Amino acid sequence: MSGPEFGTLDDVVYGRVDRVAPMIRRVIAENPSKFTYRGTGTYIIGEGEVAVIDPGPVLDSHRDAIAAALASERVTAICVTHCHSDHSPLAAWLHEETGAPTIAFGPHPPPPPSDDDSADEVTVEEALDLAFDPDVRVADGNIAARGPGWTIRAVHTPGHTSNHTCFAFEEEAVLFPGDHVMGWSTTVVSPPDGDMAAYVDSLRKVAGRGGDRTYWPTHGPAITQPQRYVEALIAHRLEREEQVLGAVRSGITDIPAMVAVLYADVREELHKAAARSVLAHLQKLELDGLVRVTPTGGYEPT
Ligand SMILES: [Zn+2]
Repeated sequence: MSGPEFGTLDDVVYGRVDRVAPMIRRVIAENPSKFTYRGTGTYIIGEGEVAVIDPGPVLDSHRDAIAAALASERVTAICVTHCHSDHSPLAAWLHEETGAPTIAFGPHPPPPPSDDDSADEVTVEEALDLAFDPDVRVADGNIAARGPGWTIRAVHTPGHTSNHTCFAFEEEAVLFPGDHVMGWSTTVVSPPDGDMAAYVDSLRKVAGRGGDRTYWPTHGPAITQPQRYVEALIAHRLEREEQVLGAVRSGITDIPAMVAVLYADVREELHKAAARSVLAHLQKLELDGLVRVTPTGGYEPT
């Protein structure tokens, strides 16, 4: 498979405030997992008057670390990329503490009932924060917040979730891509709210933003050649799509059989998440008119 060279994050000290750039600090939560890597990176933008991006999971140690990091700051904006349980839940506490508005594209749409095990497994790992409803809704291109020396603009990037939004720090030519682009791995795209066609379009959208010099993702290390990195992510997704189409055309009709063939080199604990991605690819291929669902719920070429 093609794809970007993923980086590693090796010197993590949970709860420590790291100044990763002159105007950017990061605190990493101790919630490592197969989806969050070392844990959630919460970012603090500015000095004196600050914005916080993705306050993170409900975890006492992380809440205390953020409280300490913000002790002499005035928080004026709480920006949230999307409503997974490792990103948004502490926003409610931070809003309560500081009075700063929570800012996001919108709440997560309520999920439809599902009897699909693999969907449950992925939603358990990346549980939804359905309680989150931002004080301020930002559309694509809106200025989300402003402070001394910083301007944050919303870049709506549906795909990982339909409400996913990246935040651009304009003065520093930095993008906070949330889970849209991660530094250590590809992103889970799990239907129905996750949408592969939208995801690839949103990758093209951020790749087309020529001016971004550095990405600071929620999970994993900084991405210092973002356009090239995202182009490689797009190539990886399109290659996977070709493989899924090839599998359907070779007569494989069901998703578990496709996963067994296409993800043979991927750790088994990730196969349920991989099944969600294959479903997402199949739905994109269906949209493109290349596959259709059979009466028995399998897939066949058109
Ligand atoms: Zn997420």
